[in-house]
Amino acid sequence: VSGPPPRLPPPVVTVRGPDWLPASRLDAARACPLSVALAASDADPLPSHPKAVYGSILHRLYEAAARGDVEPGPDFPRRMRTELDRLVAGRPPGVPAPERVYGYLEWLQRSSDVVARAGAVVGDGGARPSRLAPSSPGRPSPFRPDDAPPPFVAHDHGRWAEVWLASPRLRVRGKADLVEREGDHVTVVDLKTGKASGADGGVAERAALQLRAYGLVVLELVPRATVHLVVAAGSTRPVPFGPSDQEATRAVLADLAGRLPAGAAVDAADLATPGAPCRFCSGRHRCPAYAAAAPPWWREGAPHPVPADVWGRVESAVREGGSVSLSLRDAADRLVRVARLREGLVGDVSEGDELHAFGLQGRGGRTEDGLHLAPTRYADLGVDGEGAAWSLAVFGRG
Ligand code: SF4
Repeated sequence: VSGPPPRLPPPVVTVRGPDWLPASRLDAARACPLSVALAASDADPLPSHPKAVYGSILHRLYEAAARGDVEPGPDFPRRMRTELDRLVAGRPPGVPAPERVYGYLEWLQRSSDVVARAGAVVGDGGARPSRLAPSSPGRPSPFRPDDAPPPFVAHDHGRWAEVWLASPRLRVRGKADLVEREGDHVTVVDLKTGKASGADGGVAERAALQLRAYGLVVLELVPRATVHLVVAAGSTRPVPFGPSDQEATRAVLADLAGRLPAGAAVDAADLATPGAPCRFCSGRHRCPAYAAAAPPWWREGAPHPVPADVWGRVESAVREGGSVSLSLRDAADRLVRVARLREGLVGDVSEGDELHAFGLQGRGGRTEDGLHLAPTRYADLGVDGEGAAWSLAVFGRG
């Protein structure tokens, strides 16, 4: 084992407003504008969980089918499996096999579900015909935000996959999965590989807001269009896009554009909104608001699940077979045990050192009032040495 763990990056004080508001992250930006500004910056993010890698692989598989790259017909499921194997084989180095990350059965279930959803979209020769069956061969759009307008502006009949939509006026951009045009009717489709419903059973707000932003861009490009927005997640579900929805979406975009002015420096403290979104934020290790908010959550509980992170001073370190088990006095003055940390991640850390760990495995309890408590026992490697806290990042303070 050589040297200490990497140094914790300094806390972020100011951020630059991004040039574009990402359509796929508008809901996250509403919840915490700082998270989106940090994600758009060059700063080193916390590592992605392999489940995010496989989520994007499954989405690419769905897109490939929608694009027409996987031939429909009775053999469609087998061809999709072959395409999936190819995409999985090309995953980034170091990402474990999907069966290790999810377990064999869960991976089989997830991938079969996406094959079935794609079959419903393209029509697979034996399955029910899809309302989204191609009206002309699907083809990728060559359009990029700073380039020519997307093809449906010039062609009043067709179906295109992966269409860049951007509005410099609204400062929003993103890549729509599918756009169909039949005369004055333009349909924008979001292909969902996972859950598409929100807590109320309707289309999840994240997907609805993204599609509505695309809808506003389409209206700018083809002002006479009647725009239909659809989420395709097994069955197809429409997203309302009446005048009040359009107005509300414009208001969201204007508010975000005001809070995140393009290229201008903004105080991080004015944007940070610690709470439920922190669990999915890749800038936690640089966020002073989270550093201040988390210890009271650990000690007293929080109304939302708490990220599996801990930081504090090492009280003991026991090394065994390539891993280190630590006791820490954490920033909430609790004694926390972290079992089986990979030695390669923690280096030669020892008693008295300050350690910050983001993305551990652990299960916290609840208070009598239902608040979420942080665990006092965490682990990196699983008991069998197989599973691990796949997105774990460990830092020291030197
Ligand atoms: S850690 Fe929480 S408060 Fe900080 S930027 Fe991320 S979501 Fe916002």
